[in-house]
Amino acid sequence: MRATGRRQRARQRVVLTTAGVALTGALLSGCDQQASPTRGTSTDTTPSAATPSAPGVPSVLRATGLQVTGSVGRPELARVLSEAQTARSWVARTWPRQVAADGTVRLQVAADSAQFARLRGGVPESDELAASTTASGVVVIGPTVVSGLTAQGQRVVLAHELTHVVLHQTARAGLSRWVVEGSAEYTAYRWTGLSLAAACPTLANDVRAGRVPTGPPADTSFSGGQQQRAYQQAHGYMSFLVSRYGLSAWQRFVLQASAGRAGAFADSFGGATPAGLRSAYAAFLRHSLL
Ligand SMILES: [Zn+2]
Repeated sequence: MRATGRRQRARQRVVLTTAGVALTGALLSGCDQQASPTRGTSTDTTPSAATPSAPGVPSVLRATGLQVTGSVGRPELARVLSEAQTARSWVARTWPRQVAADGTVRLQVAADSAQFARLRGGVPESDELAASTTASGVVVIGPTVVSGLTAQGQRVVLAHELTHVVLHQTARAGLSRWVVEGSAEYTAYRWTGLSLAAACPTLANDVRAGRVPTGPPADTSFSGGQQQRAYQQAHGYMSFLVSRYGLSAWQRFVLQASAGRAGAFADSFGGATPAGLRSAYAAFLRHSLL
């Protein structure tokens, strides 16, 4: 069962190539990112503070609101911190109060897939993930992010995870997966300059083929072999809600839903229901993706 799952995920890896980003949807508890091995291109930056390190001793780099720890090389760690600073600024543009209120976010960079699995709690499949956020709000970054992503790919992965952290989405059980992942994806991609079609190529292909989603993806869509599609559908639905109701109403909905408030959808969107928006959503997707 587990080995089968690993093979399925391996077949799904890859995907978004526009602007050099390679990113698929996440796996597991609503907080993981999976990525393909596109080479990185960013330059390193000097952190605002650093601690000396001996071989095998984790380095610690800090910047405003961020602390990055890891036993990888100092240049690699500095690069992660640099991209995390950009990612944090992206998240702050959408969630300024939440970013300001959250203090310092801790990021742990794993040296290899085995350490990545341990930091995440020993989940065997984790070597195929890029990053995840623990229930206590620590962002765990896998080796793929360090060595296999472009600068923009790193920023998207980090912004996705930072969104989970500042909205405290991994600390609560029972939240709808499309809300958790869709809000993180929308926040992360909002400042990349990528179109919805570029950010969601599988969704775009589905719509072009006449397979138009009727609403947000069910929680069950985020397990099994269709995670990538589910993440893009969640992203697409969030884009639809922002387009139809505006950013403020969408932010209100995400905050309420992330806090587990029942009725957040209807309260935020004038009594609307996903079922009642089916035709409007289909029209939005065709307009945006065809
Ligand atoms: Zn996530």
